Amino acid sequence: MFNLILFGPPGSGKGTQSEKLIAKYNLKHLSTGDLLRSEIAQKTHLGLEAKKYMDKGNLVPDEVVIGMINDALDNNRDVEGFLFDGFPRTALQAEELDELLKKKNSCIDIMLALNVSEDELIKRLVKRGETSGRSDDNNEQVIRARIMEYHKKTATVADHYQKVHKVIFVKGEGSIDEIFNRLSEEIDRLKLNDNCL
Ligand code: AMP
Repeated sequence: MFNLILFGPPGSGKGTQSEKLIAKYNLKHLSTGDLLRSEIAQKTHLGLEAKKYMDKGNLVPDEVVIGMINDALDNNRDVEGFLFDGFPRTALQAEELDELLKKKNSCIDIMLALNVSEDELIKRLVKRGETSGRSDDNNEQVIRARIMEYHKKTATVADHYQKVHKVIFVKGEGSIDEIFNRLSEEIDRLKLNDNCL
């Protein structure tokens, strides 16, 4: 198995790059944001509860997203690997993910962290709000709250994987293909090794 975390603040291009990476490397895309939006669309109890947090730009409680990831791992047993997008977003989520993968004799092989300046992030999110239909992209105050949540709770997740030398920072500005090539180069370098020993 090859398990990758695509990491970065809101608007850093995780969703766009994930689509291209899963196609190239035959990975199963697990985006907690997408899973939550699907719960909202189906008007499930979980979705309606999560929406209250998402509309304010706050993180949904850990146990909710960890439960969703646990189910997704169980429901996708025969895949070559996972690309985690938007998860883990807190230190606890990272610890739980490590445990869940360990039970499957696997681990996170690498975290690729996209670096994008704050001005560029806000510009991209405001622009995305014009077409994405996402209510949390439509309001600059909510966008700023999401970036603040990132600095307060999520940025530290990179430290967790840096302790085990599994983080590579990648410049997240430039054209979509330029960024994709940078990410691919890092994966190609790594894939030859067994990183879970
Ligand atoms: P995203 O699509 O990744 O930008 O996520 C949209 C929103 O879903 C976030 O602003 C959070 O409210 C919620 N969310 C997504 N993933 C997580 C996560 N791993 N932990 C907590 N909340 C999450």
